[in-house]
Amino acid sequence: MRTPFIAGNWKMHKNSAETAKLIGEIKKLTANVSGVDIAVAPPFTSLASAKIALGSSSIGLCAQNVHWEEKGAFTGEISPQMLLDAACGWAIIGHSERRQYFGETDETVNKRFRSALSAGLGAIVCVGETLEEREADKTSGVVERQLDGAFQDTKDSNLEKVIVAYEPVWAIGTGRTATAEQAQEVHGLIRANLALRLGEKVSSATRILYGGSVKPGNAAKLLALPDVDGALVGGASLLAEDFSAIIRASVKNE
Ligand code: PEP
Repeated sequence: MRTPFIAGNWKMHKNSAETAKLIGEIKKLTANVSGVDIAVAPPFTSLASAKIALGSSSIGLCAQNVHWEEKGAFTGEISPQMLLDAACGWAIIGHSERRQYFGETDETVNKRFRSALSAGLGAIVCVGETLEEREADKTSGVVERQLDGAFQDTKDSNLEKVIVAYEPVWAIGTGRTATAEQAQEVHGLIRANLALRLGEKVSSATRILYGGSVKPGNAAKLLALPDVDGALVGGASLLAEDFSAIIRASVKNE
């Protein structure tokens, strides 16, 4: 019922030429794959090159962050309107690296999220606990607090283009992945939380992605879980073969 969504978060990797090359390879390797929505999130400086390389491809272009104002004195920030102008259909919001290293808070996540929605940009909102929080049995409390923060005052927004990504911080870039049980438990909790907040209809239509060391070898098992609707992929999205293997794994399990 929910079309799988596989997004590649390239983080601070790939210049313009490398972006064009990687997109060319991904396009070739996924040319005959259907039944899955795909997006790539290169650095801001490579968006123009990505747009040209994507051409008429159905692969979506995603930004790694978005500011809440349309324009103004906000050095180093990019507005939703600028991202739309750069052909982005999506933006990642509240990634744990933004929260950990750049002072992102639930409040700024909410501002970015509402601004993206009202500009018509799709939003991939990231939530997830640290290892310390998991070990202290605080996972559900942390994820619920992050959802509360992100979704504050969004009830009347157009939530069709909203995706939630559950990314346990301890699994990002570490090679450690949540077990199927751990992932399904939190995804189920997120869906139940969305149902309470936004109603059953929106909740059952919203895609919830898993992120955290997703690789070709573990993708099928994670993507087969009932409430896992795709993946936000970091490291493995930088290798066309690995990224397309994950894309194919999502279709097999549809
Ligand atoms: C990410 O950056 O969102 C991520 C999941 O990274 P990795 O796949 O490398 O763990």
